[in-house]
Amino acid sequence: MSISFEWDKVQLAFKETVIAFAQQELNGNLREQDKTSHFDRAVWHLCADFGILGWPMPKAYGGAELDCPTIMLALEGLGYGCRNNGLIFVINNHVWSCALPILHFGTAAQQQRYLPDLCRGALIGGHALTEPGSGSAAFAMQTEAVRHQDRYVLNGTKTFISNAPIADVFVAFARTDPSARAEQGVSAFIIRRDFPGVTIAKEWEKSGLRTAPMGELVFQDCEVPADHLLGREGGGHSVFQSTIEWERSFFFASQVGVMERLLEQCVRYARTRQQFDRPIGSFQAISHKIAEMKLRLELAKLMLYKIAWLKQEGRIAFLEASLAKLFISEGLVQTCLDAVQIHGARGYMTEYELERELRDAIAGPIYAGTSEIQRGIVASLLGV
Ligand SMILES: Cc1cc2nc3c(=O)[nH]c(=O)nc-3n(C[C@H](O)[C@H](O)[C@H](O)COP(=O)(O)OP(=O)(O)OC[C@H]3O[C@@H](n4cnc5c(N)ncnc54)[C@H](O)[C@@H]3O)c2cc1C
Repeated sequence: MSISFEWDKVQLAFKETVIAFAQQELNGNLREQDKTSHFDRAVWHLCADFGILGWPMPKAYGGAELDCPTIMLALEGLGYGCRNNGLIFVINNHVWSCALPILHFGTAAQQQRYLPDLCRGALIGGHALTEPGSGSAAFAMQTEAVRHQDRYVLNGTKTFISNAPIADVFVAFARTDPSARAEQGVSAFIIRRDFPGVTIAKEWEKSGLRTAPMGELVFQDCEVPADHLLGREGGGHSVFQSTIEWERSFFFASQVGVMERLLEQCVRYARTRQQFDRPIGSFQAISHKIAEMKLRLELAKLMLYKIAWLKQEGRIAFLEASLAKLFISEGLVQTCLDAVQIHGARGYMTEYELERELRDAIAGPIYAGTSEIQRGIVASLLGV
């Protein structure tokens, strides 16, 4: 058994290609798009053409079938090169929370029908779990699916659904057996936006990630063909557990790229900004902040790379994914706060684009299970 901390040349070259693509193609007009909460469909298609949506997908469906460590490194490069965190958020939701569960739990017919279009960006995917009355306690959901011959009829409301206003297809969850415990009574479905009875009742305006649209999805006597059940009836909990593990494993890699970019920006600023006839980096109060940023970055990378290795080996990474999600999402908030502080008034000004990074980062400890829930998972996995 050996251990290696070296990336090979091909992986590093691919990361550089991703960074160059992101820097050249994905950052245009971002301040205006953030101000107006604009999702840029043109850059979405550029990302699709570059292959990002298919990185973990089999070649048979138009994917690149990259190995897990390469995907992790490439996502890190994407976060480093692309300052449009909302765009990356749309991509991550689409890939990890919609396309991947269809790959892992879909029938051959479902995969054939949806994955090629999801890979090439012709369809946009979303994931609908949360409801007004059930957030952290997601499986206390009220949405019901009742079977009538060859279809299910869904009624209920899903809220805070990323991509909802732009999505064409959702992996959504509903109770199929109200008398059973949540773990047995919930099923997953593939739901198309154009099924009768699906409406986007509301578009949320958010503090950050403003280029990633979010909405409320209402099912009113929504008719879903029985062949759009994802996995087995009553198997929604397994679909969710698997999805959330992959999501927490890979979603936050791009945030590590953001951490690295902000660290470099702070180093440059601390070396050049002079006060009291000295660069501000010569004050320990500033240099120690930068040392802490570096510490968080290196720890975050180690956590991610271990997860990439575990997933490549086909192993469970539930604990590691929760730890990484917790550490990276909170670490990025702290890094953003430090970056704002190091830049003084400039850090607080929209023009310098650091306050946007902070607004984007604040969502991280909330979505994909709050920090409090992650700490609870970690403690319970330790037997506490
Ligand atoms: C940017 C963003 C994108 C999102 N995208 C999606 C999406 O695409 N699909 C989707 O289904 N959902 C999505 N969500 C919703 C997200 O999953 C929920 O917000 C999250 O699960 C928390 O639920 P809640 O907001 O209802 O908070 P609540 O569950 O009401 O929690 C409120 C507070 O109580 C704490 N709390 C709750 N239970 C416990 C407990 N047992 N122990 C300790 N503390 C507890 C929480 O940690 C939190 O601090 C998104 C949210 C955000 C912010």
